[in-house]
Amino acid sequence: MRGTFLRNLYKSVRLASLGQMVSNTLISGLLYFEKGGALMALTDPVTVLPGVGPKREAGLASLGIHTIRDLLFYFPYRYDDLKVKDLAEAADQEKLTVKGIVVTDPVISRFGPHRSRVNVKLQIERSVILVTFFNQPWLKDRFQMGDEAAIFGKWDAKRRSLTGMKILATQSQDQPSMAAIYTVNKNVRMGTLLDLIKAAWERDQQNINDLVPASIREHYRLMSDAQLVHGMHFPDTPAEAKAARRTGVFREFFLFQLQIQALKQLNANSSNGLAIPYDNQALRALIATLPFALTNAQKRVVNEICADMRRPNHMNRLLQGDVGSGKTVVAAIVLYAAVTAGFQAALMVPTEVLAEQHFAKLTKLFKDFPVKLGLLTGSTSTKKRRELLSELRDGRLNLIIGTHALIQKGVDFHALGLVVIDEQHRFGVNQRKILQEKGQKPDLLSMTATPIPRTLAITAYGEMDVSTIDELPAGRKPIATMWLRKNQIDQVYRIIREQVQSGSQVFAITPLIAESEKIDLQNAEQLFVDMQKAVGNLGPVALLHGQMKPDEKDQIMRAFSDGKIAVLVSTTVVEVGVDIPNATVMAIFDADRFGLSQLHQLRGRVGRGQKAAQCLLIADPKNEQGIARMEIMTKTNDGFLLAQKDLEMRGSGDIFGDKQSGLPEFKVADPVGDFPTLEAAQKIVAQIFKTDPHLLQSDHQPLAAYLAESRQMLGSLD
Ligand code: ADP
Ligand code: MG
Repeated sequence: MRGTFLRNLYKSVRLASLGQMVSNTLISGLLYFEKGGALMALTDPVTVLPGVGPKREAGLASLGIHTIRDLLFYFPYRYDDLKVKDLAEAADQEKLTVKGIVVTDPVISRFGPHRSRVNVKLQIERSVILVTFFNQPWLKDRFQMGDEAAIFGKWDAKRRSLTGMKILATQSQDQPSMAAIYTVNKNVRMGTLLDLIKAAWERDQQNINDLVPASIREHYRLMSDAQLVHGMHFPDTPAEAKAARRTGVFREFFLFQLQIQALKQLNANSSNGLAIPYDNQALRALIATLPFALTNAQKRVVNEICADMRRPNHMNRLLQGDVGSGKTVVAAIVLYAAVTAGFQAALMVPTEVLAEQHFAKLTKLFKDFPVKLGLLTGSTSTKKRRELLSELRDGRLNLIIGTHALIQKGVDFHALGLVVIDEQHRFGVNQRKILQEKGQKPDLLSMTATPIPRTLAITAYGEMDVSTIDELPAGRKPIATMWLRKNQIDQVYRIIREQVQSGSQVFAITPLIAESEKIDLQNAEQLFVDMQKAVGNLGPVALLHGQMKPDEKDQIMRAFSDGKIAVLVSTTVVEVGVDIPNATVMAIFDADRFGLSQLHQLRGRVGRGQKAAQCLLIADPKNEQGIARMEIMTKTNDGFLLAQKDLEMRGSGDIFGDKQSGLPEFKVADPVGDFPTLEAAQKIVAQIFKTDPHLLQSDHQPLAAYLAESRQMLGSLD
């Protein structure tokens, strides 16, 4: 009974996007049951609190706070230390509290309608410091010579002055020693938020029940959820805040692991997927016709994927491999495997050019094999499209390659067995999900050239099985990478001219950063003009940028791919997987504005043919980090190493490059900094599922309920 219930439950959970699921449920906190099982008041809307009307309700909603529980679990991101600090121990730029006697009248100076400064001198023991408040002219009236004052602010050690941030009460004895600081916006002030959190705590503290089983909490000396809420919002000591954070981190990882392992358990369930009994002989025959021998890594991953497809479970696998490691041929082999078992297969890629390229390659590869392929993109004619759709529906077509066009309404399959998604990080989680829902739960293979350091893999791909190609095909000439200063631009143009003269093609890339698209476009246009001056007499130069229409972009990419353009000046829109063997130079301007992973991806666009290739980084980095990045790039071609460095230097966001990656957001925990805790949580949850797979034990029932509630929330999301 219970087993069926859970299976159905997980089924719906699996279909929803994991990223959304995790962040939504983590943000909303947990389900609370009273002993009798009745749902408690924590799910009440915030409007039950005094003073919360429609306006305040909307303000809170803009922070994602809807219920009492949301409020209680809306944790601060840092604390200000309000304990008075001895200046002898103060570090430069430290935020601290000082206490002293006002020894001058406050002086106000104004510079324009909204800018002002209030200066006052404070005697602290035997020294006198200057305290300045910017743009808060009303504070002038708060100071009087001879008064005692306690002020929180930022200390400048060299000038022995304090930039004041807050005046603290000096008389009151029960001034807390720490102040929690929250993320707020213009709709909700921090003071209001804090008052509401206090009110929620007063009202419902006794209703906060625990999710993490008591035995685990005891073993790891973790707080109860009520202690956690108290320690996060109202710590009496820094030690209490620290202990609360430790518990908060564990709890967040624990619930995250609970969700992804529940998903994995569902996928492993044999009644929940397709068995694809492919024809091994046929695969061997295909592999024998390849113009090269597969690398050992390619053979290994083909075996892993095929074995997984043959099993009746649902495959959810990631194939990762550095740029140029040969993922396309692996995809081709496994797509063919599905076809030999009588299924249809689909390959989805992020751009039309890439779709056409894959289509051309696979058409050639399958020339003598019983595969009927189709290409479906945004520019497929209406007539052709209608024809393709009908062939897909009745099963005459057994392999379809395409872009987003594949996930539109009206694209229906006869028997879809396998979906392969290339450059998967380019698709939003929802797009990936739609294609997968088109068949009877087809197996899924996602491919990515963005190597994920081990420390991030659990978070990013925790619910998938991973196959890795960790070897490049033999005989690849390494790409020579050179770092040049802007005043060496003549040398850059000389290299480009030489290459164009010898019939090779060149990429010239400028950064594109969303906040300043205008400036970036100007940069690209300027470079285009300069490039035409420098190289235009030797071959055609073209400009490609993100503000062009998709079909314009595709047209230019196609012309470049056909060799009709010598130099392509472009913003980063070219980053994705195209294979242009005749391109030998990747020149990246303002290279210090890119992360390492992105530079590596760009560099991987060249060096795919017989000719030796080079990557030119043109940059005058403004800081140590920028210099370090340029140097690392010239020293290594190893994508994993670069990803690890990127993570250390700039954080996870840059590896994924976009928000749609589906990387769950944690509120308290830091998946990199708190990695050991994440690993511990992974093991602990695995142990729970091992001993009690259906979460029937009494202390596991809140966890089952938690998963059930996740599903409900998902229902409302869909
Ligand atoms: P990526 O993993 O970046 O998608 P591709 O699949 O585009 O890489 O492969 C890059 C190039 O390497 C292609 O031109 C492909 O034909 C070639 N290639 C793939 N596998 C091998 C191999 N085992 N030996 C030699 N060349 C290979
Ligand atoms: Mg590729």
